[in-house]
Formats: sequence, C-alpha cells, structure tokens
Amino acid sequence: MNDCLFCQIVAKEVPADIVVETGRALAFRDINPQAPTHVLVVPKAHYENAAALAAADDGLADDLLKACHTVAVQEGVAETGYRIVFNTGQGAGQTVFHVHAHVLGGRSLTWPPG
Ligand code: 5GP
Ligand code: ZN
Repeated sequence: MNDCLFCQIVAKEVPADIVVETGRALAFRDINPQAPTHVLVVPKAHYENAAALAAADDGLADDLLKACHTVAVQEGVAETGYRIVFNTGQGAGQTVFHVHAHVLGGRSLTWPPG
C-alpha cells in the first residue's frame, strides 16, 4: 500500500473535504486552516515537490495552477486576493512530500511570510 497521505486522499482511502476535482488534480480543505480559505491542491500523480513536478514537463503544473484559480473563484477570493504557496523542502516547512499548492485567502495576508 502506498504510504503517502495525499496519494491516499486522492485514492479516497483517507477522507477529505474535497472542493474541486479535475481529471488530473484534486483540491481539498487543509485540516489545520491558516486562513478562512485554506485549500490544498495536489496532482493526482505523485511528485515529491514543486521541482519534481516542474521537471515532469507534461503540462501537469499548468493544470495544477489552473485548478488553484478555479478554487479561488469558487471560494470567492479571486477578486479580493489570494496566495498560492508551494513549501519546497524541510527548511521551507514542507511536511508532506507529495507536491501541494496551498491556496490561502479570505483575510489580509502579510508580506513577507514568516
Ligand atoms: P506543508 O507543511 O507540507 O506545506 O503542508 C502540509 C499541509 O497538510 C499542512 O498545512 C497540514 O495542515 C495539512 N495536512 C496534514 N495532514 C492532513 C490531513 O490528513 N488532511 C488534510 N486535509 N490536510 C492535512
Ligand atoms: Zn503521494
């Protein structure tokens, strides 16, 4: 059995609050939200991080970014503003090594992030 948590969510073996599903991507609410909108957008295929996803070079990164925007529109934050974050590597706070975009919005977001 694949022991990757987000592969298990994609396979619907672990429950999640899914907000958008496309052919190649899945978006679900973060279990520990840091903003009123905090959705994780993952490719259904397993890539460890954003660099590995970019290297795949098959249009999947484009699909993922489009799915992020779809989430923002659906969540009603596309006009007010939102942030897309890929924590990449342990030093940047990545804890789940299946690439995921955090889509954050619904409150004012400070810059730079901590
Ligand atoms: P990272 O720290 O890797 O950038 O982000 C991982 C995110 O996954 C965290 O924000 C964390 O709250 C979220 N997370 C961890 N376990 C689960 C889970 O079982 N379900 C959901 N929906 N989110 C999770
Ligand atoms: Zn995975």
